[in-house]
Amino acid sequence: MSEKKKKVGVFTFTCDEGCSIYMIEIFNKKLIEWLEKMDLEYFLSMKDRRDATEFDIAIVEGAITTERDLHEIKKVREMSKILIGMGNCTITGMPTCQRNNFTPEQTEAIKDDLEKFDFLEKCLPVKEVVHMDDEVPGCPMDEKKFIEVLEKYL
Ligand code: SF4
Repeated sequence: MSEKKKKVGVFTFTCDEGCSIYMIEIFNKKLIEWLEKMDLEYFLSMKDRRDATEFDIAIVEGAITTERDLHEIKKVREMSKILIGMGNCTITGMPTCQRNNFTPEQTEAIKDDLEKFDFLEKCLPVKEVVHMDDEVPGCPMDEKKFIEVLEKYL
C-alpha cells in the first residue's frame, strides 16, 4: 500500500514574497514528482481556501511584524508537525526587519503608521517566535537547499 501523502501548506508573513515566487520556479521543475508524495493544501498564491486544520509540513516565509502575524504564526505552528523557514526573513528577520536598525528619529517618523497598523515594537524573525524544525537560508532562498530540506520530510 502506498504511503499517505503529506499535507503541505505555504504561509506568507510580512515580506516581498520573493521566496514563494522563487518556489513556484522550483515547482516548475519538481512539482509533478512531489505531488506523488504531497498534497498542496494551502498556498495563497495558488489556492486561497484553507480547509485543512492540520499540516504535516508548513513552509513559511517572511518576518513577524504585526499582532496579526504573531497570532497567525503561533496558529500555524500548532497546526503543523514540521515547520520549515524559507529565506533569511524567517531566520534573521532581514531584510524585512530593517526598521529595527532605524535611529530614534527615524522610528519617531514612522510611529503613527506603526500604531495605525498594529505593528509590533520590534520586527521579529519567525525563528525567534516559534520553533522552526528546519530552514533554508538565502534571499531569495537557496534552490538546492530547499529541494534537499523539503525532500527530507516528504
Ligand atoms: S528572504 Fe528575501 S526574497 Fe525571501 S521573502 Fe525575505 S526579502 Fe523576500
